[in-house]
Amino acid sequence: MIKIIQSWEEMQSIGIQLMREKQSHGFVPTMGALHEGHLSLVKESIKENHINTVSIYVNPTQFGANEDLSKYPRTFEKDMELLEELNGVNYCFFPSDSIMYPRGYQTYVQNEIMSQVMCGVSRPVHFKGVTTIVSKLLNIVMPTISYFGQKDYQQYLIIKQMVADLNMPVQIKALPIVREADGLAMSSRNKYLTKPQREQAVCLYKALQYAQQKIKEGIFDVNRLKEMLHYFFNEYPLAKVDYIEIRDSNNLDTLDTVKDQALLALAVYFNSTRLIDNAVLSIQ
Ligand code: AMP
Repeated sequence: MIKIIQSWEEMQSIGIQLMREKQSHGFVPTMGALHEGHLSLVKESIKENHINTVSIYVNPTQFGANEDLSKYPRTFEKDMELLEELNGVNYCFFPSDSIMYPRGYQTYVQNEIMSQVMCGVSRPVHFKGVTTIVSKLLNIVMPTISYFGQKDYQQYLIIKQMVADLNMPVQIKALPIVREADGLAMSSRNKYLTKPQREQAVCLYKALQYAQQKIKEGIFDVNRLKEMLHYFFNEYPLAKVDYIEIRDSNNLDTLDTVKDQALLALAVYFNSTRLIDNAVLSIQ
């Protein structure tokens, strides 16, 4: 049975004890509404560690004022069933808002560079909320390793940078994007899509494949590739492009041409539902 813990003090004393005993302790932070993408992280954690903790917390500080905080899916009982089935999760940290952000809360963690581009442009408060909550969770859980999905590639790079910059004693591991049968990246937000939107949502994955093909054909100029991608999305009238970015996959620096490899990252609106996807494209 998974032990559900709501008190940060109790979770932290378990984390400290495991650290003293030198047990490997894997941690997967999530916002719940679990799907196979989340479960792939948890399965890897179970494979690699003695003790495993998953957190479920819809973090209000990473949502902007006009975003979907109140309607974000909350499915705690189903989530616990899915986690129990994996046979290897020891603890689920499930705090309330008043535990994570008590009255008088004042301190935030902010990345100054990578948080300013891509998703940071249309979601200006998002990464400040992410780095704040992830540093709090790492301080509470005290894992030896924490797992993140490449689905949120920018988030992964920012967290890796935060852990290095703030000398946090934890390893960060990224795992590949898990997709639906047609290629749509699994996301808790896919639930918001209407049937016609869901049919067209595969355009993100198709665009990644299309760009990879163009690179194989010898098109390396970033502006040209971006322009071709904008045309590509014209075929999908329900999709409104937020951004198409081709950047250095190590640090999100801009590129003029693709050399060896590059990150292609996409954000696309279907009405008010915003989907993201990405791939590291290579010229081989
Ligand atoms: P979230 O609940 O959206 O905060 O996601 C929790 C973790 O699951 C993050 O590290 C995400 O990158 C990861 N994740 C979400 N969707 C996927 C997916 N389709 N494939 C792999 N990892 C994912």
